[in-house]
Amino acid sequence: MTLSPFAPLTDLKGKRILLSNDDGIAAAGLRVLEQIARALSDDVWVVAPAAEQSGAGHSLTLHHPLRPVKVAERRYTINGTPTDCVLVAINHLMRDHPPDLVLSGINMGVNLGEDVHYSGTVAAAMEGALLGVRAIAFSQAFDDEENIQWATAEKFGPDIVRQACALGWAQNVLINVNFPDCPPEQAKGVRVARQGKNKIGDDLVHRHDPRGRPYIWIAARRLGDPSAEGTDLKAVADGYVSVTPLNVDLTHNATMQALGKAFTSS
Ligand code: MN
Repeated sequence: MTLSPFAPLTDLKGKRILLSNDDGIAAAGLRVLEQIARALSDDVWVVAPAAEQSGAGHSLTLHHPLRPVKVAERRYTINGTPTDCVLVAINHLMRDHPPDLVLSGINMGVNLGEDVHYSGTVAAAMEGALLGVRAIAFSQAFDDEENIQWATAEKFGPDIVRQACALGWAQNVLINVNFPDCPPEQAKGVRVARQGKNKIGDDLVHRHDPRGRPYIWIAARRLGDPSAEGTDLKAVADGYVSVTPLNVDLTHNATMQALGKAFTSS
């Protein structure tokens, strides 16, 4: 089935925006995202995980009960993953009037290259896309946890949402946005970029717990090539905001054709 693309949305005023994230309801980046959303519309809902869910990817909670808790008007936490939050928001909490737009983040730290497969931030947007709602994921690069450049996200965020929505885009596609680690006046602009290489998991840390039992902690080093032209990594490293459309259909067409030939010849 071919889905018709999202129609262009030129005026977001009065449109319903759902926010979620993977850093949890109390995260600073969610407050920044709320400011961005409220600059666009008065009808902003928040449905976010009660606890940190970074690295949760697109996981669903299937083995314990989910309990949405209303903490304020149009504001809920759920004891689940980012995907649970968006799913429960759209199919239950907001069922009578689903959102026109899902925004996720702003994640504390980049979601570049292969990060998008592990990221709960990207997954929340992906879930929006799978449920037929246009969705954008936001992440902020940082080096110093005490000095995160949220102002860069605040400066560029609203216009990126406006321009992308005014354009419309294909259903089952979400937009992944990463802000560079520099003050807004030093950011060079916006670059549309493809996914680069940024694979996590190369530096497993082996230690012992206080009872002497060994454990493993997945550390933060990435294997990739931040200098590869045209990539999201390079854009952010060069001081640009990267904007990358991601397709939820992971089919690789060239390989599909080759396999098709191989398997139909017999
Ligand atoms: Mn996170």
